[in-house]
Amino acid sequence: MPLHVLSHPLGAHVLTHLRDKTTKPALFRTLSYQISLLLALEATRDLATEEKKIETPLEPFPGRVLARPLAVVPILRAGLGMVQPFQDIFPDVSVGYVGLERDHTTAIARSYYCKLPPLAGKRTVVVDPMLATGGSAAQALDVVKAAGATEMVFVCIVASPEGVAVVEKSHPTVPIYTGALDRELNARKYILPGLGDFGDRLYGT
Ligand code: URA
Repeated sequence: MPLHVLSHPLGAHVLTHLRDKTTKPALFRTLSYQISLLLALEATRDLATEEKKIETPLEPFPGRVLARPLAVVPILRAGLGMVQPFQDIFPDVSVGYVGLERDHTTAIARSYYCKLPPLAGKRTVVVDPMLATGGSAAQALDVVKAAGATEMVFVCIVASPEGVAVVEKSHPTVPIYTGALDRELNARKYILPGLGDFGDRLYGT
């Protein structure tokens, strides 16, 4: 499955400010919203539509509407920072939650929470801002698949080559949409150049 890297100039602009270590949490949240909105549009560009005949004030019109519902599943907690734009542009979206916590010593993800809506027949968009080792993403995709999701997409703001390789290996049919593909992981499994700990910067912790 192809890796889609955002190419909109606004994406580069927003990402630069997200990466800037002087950006404070309030602005960081606004920028996260903005880039997630751009990514939400990219990740849903190929959604199926069906005909709906309506009447404009002047004449009949064969319009088109979304054919199938959408679900967004943030990986807690940082993924929460990407949900609002999906809710703003897809009013009927269902939201599920997968709680995975990265052990700071081993960098291995542990599941501590899972609450999902029915996913069968829905495009399921799993969101997590930083695709670092790929462990959490692969695990979250396993969880939504086991819950009935058949059409999955993964959306992140920054990806590492290592993380992309892990997701491509474990879920070869799942497209990945990212704001940027960065250089590498450091020894502590942070993305370089990256933007630091997304959750900490989002929540000011
Ligand atoms: N999680 C983050 O928040 N940042 C990284 O660089 C890697 C994982």
